[in-house]
Amino acid sequence: MALKLFNTLTRSVQEFMPLDPAGKKVGMYCCGPTVYDFAHIGNWRTFVFADLVRRTLEFSGYDVQHVMNITDVEDKIIKRVRENKTTLREFTGKFETAFLDDLKALGCREPHQKPRATEYIPEIIALIEKLVARGIAYKAADGSVYFSITKYQGCGCHYGQLLKLNLDEMRAGERVASDEYEKESVADFALWKARVPDDGDVFWPSPFGEGRPGWHIECSAMSIKALGETFDLHLGGEDLKFPHHEDEIAQSEGATGKPFVKFWLHGAHLLVEGKKMSKSLGNFFTLRDLLAKGFTGREVRYLLLTAHYRETFNFTLDGLAGAKTALARIDECVGKLREIAGNTSADADKSYLDQFSSSLDDDLNISGLWGKVFEWVRLLNTKIANGEKSAFWAARQLATWQKIDSVLGIGTKSEAEVPAEISSLAEGRMKAKWAKDFKRADAIRDELKAKGWVIDDTPKGIKLRKL
Ligand code: AMP
Ligand code: ZN
Repeated sequence: MALKLFNTLTRSVQEFMPLDPAGKKVGMYCCGPTVYDFAHIGNWRTFVFADLVRRTLEFSGYDVQHVMNITDVEDKIIKRVRENKTTLREFTGKFETAFLDDLKALGCREPHQKPRATEYIPEIIALIEKLVARGIAYKAADGSVYFSITKYQGCGCHYGQLLKLNLDEMRAGERVASDEYEKESVADFALWKARVPDDGDVFWPSPFGEGRPGWHIECSAMSIKALGETFDLHLGGEDLKFPHHEDEIAQSEGATGKPFVKFWLHGAHLLVEGKKMSKSLGNFFTLRDLLAKGFTGREVRYLLLTAHYRETFNFTLDGLAGAKTALARIDECVGKLREIAGNTSADADKSYLDQFSSSLDDDLNISGLWGKVFEWVRLLNTKIANGEKSAFWAARQLATWQKIDSVLGIGTKSEAEVPAEISSLAEGRMKAKWAKDFKRADAIRDELKAKGWVIDDTPKGIKLRKL
C-alpha cells in the first residue's frame, strides 16, 4: 500500500508522489518557531507531527530534505525586544537554543536546514522586487510595500487555495500592516514594513527604503531558496492556513508563475479544557514545565503522538501519567525480549512490519498503529508467560520493534539516557552500513569516539557505551 496523506490544497486524502522523477527525493518545509518565548506543548504537537511525517517518509524509503525555519524577526519579537531593552540577536538566540534543546528532548530528528529569517534579507528583498516588477506589489503612502490581491487575481492567479474566502466582501484598496489577521479582514498585506521609531535598531536598508520584512514573505523566500520554486510538502499547525500559508502561496506563485507546493499538511490544535493552548490565553505548559513535574521528553512525545494529526487533542496531566504507564508496558516487554535473545540476532518480522506500515500509509493512522503495537506487546507477553525461550524468536521481535520505533521515535528507557546527538550519529552510522557505505560508517564511529562514546555491534543490535 502506498502512503496516503490529507492534502489541504485538494481537501482530500491523496497518494503521496514526490516531484522527483526518480521517486526518491522529497523536499519538506515546516514553518518553524517564532522565537519570542519558550515553545509550548501545543507548538510541540505540530513539530512532533512534522517529525512523524519525516520519519514515515524515511521509513518508506524516501530521501527527505527537511527544512524548518527560525522566525527571528516579526511583530511580536520586535515588541518584546523593545520591552526587554535588548538586541534582536541576544533576545532570539536564547529562545532558539531552548527550542533546539527541547527538539532533542522530544526525540525529533534535527531538520537538515534551519534557516533564520534575518540571514535571508537579500533573498526576501529579491522576491519582493520580482513582485513589484510584475506589478503585483506596490509601495503605499506609509512607505511600506504591500501585496496587491486584485493585481494577483488579474494575472489569473487564485487567492484562497487553502480555504474558501468571501473576496466579494473585501474592500478594494484596504490594507493590513500586521502579520496576523482574521479571514474576515482579508486585504493587501505587508511584504516590507517601512521603519518606524518603535522598531528601534531592527531595520535593514532596501531599494524600498529602510525597514524589515513581513512574516509571510520570510517563509516564501527561505523555502524557495532551500527547496526550489516548487517542492513537495509544506506543513504547519492549522492556524497557519490563513493568512500565513495562503499568503505564502500568493507571494511565491505571484513571483515565480509556478505552483508552489504539491502537498499541504496541517496539524490540528492541542487543547486544554476544550480551548486552544496558547500564550495569549495563558493556558499553556512548556516542555520545561512538564520536565520540572518529573515527566520525561519521551512521555510527552508519546502523548502528543497518541491522537491522529487531524483531530484536536485535549491535553491533561492525567493523560501524561497514562503515557508513563503505557511506555512502561513497552519497556518491560522489550527488557524481557533482550534477556531471552541474548547474543542472537535476527531480521524483523516482515508480516508485522507490513501491518504497522499499513496504518501509517492510511493518512498516518497513529491510533490504529498504537492499537496494533499494544496488541502485539500483549501477545508477546502471553508467549513469554507461557514459556517461550527461543532466542531467535525474541531477537526477531526486537528487530521488529527497532524498525517500528524508527518511526515512533520513543526509544526504550536505556536508550533515552543517551544524548540525542549521539543517538542520531549512531543512527546515521546504521544507515550508512545499510547502504554499504562502510567508509562513512567508520568515519561516524570515529566521530562518536571523539565525543566519548563507543558503539558496539551486538547480535541484538547496536549498543552505545561511554568511553
Ligand atoms: P509559532 O511559534 O507561534 O509560529 O507556532 C509554531 C507552530 O505551532 C505553528 O505551526 C502553529 O500552527 C503551531 N501551534 C500553535 N498553537 C498550537 C496548538 N495549540 N496546538 C498545535 N499547534 C499549535
Ligand atoms: Zn511559515
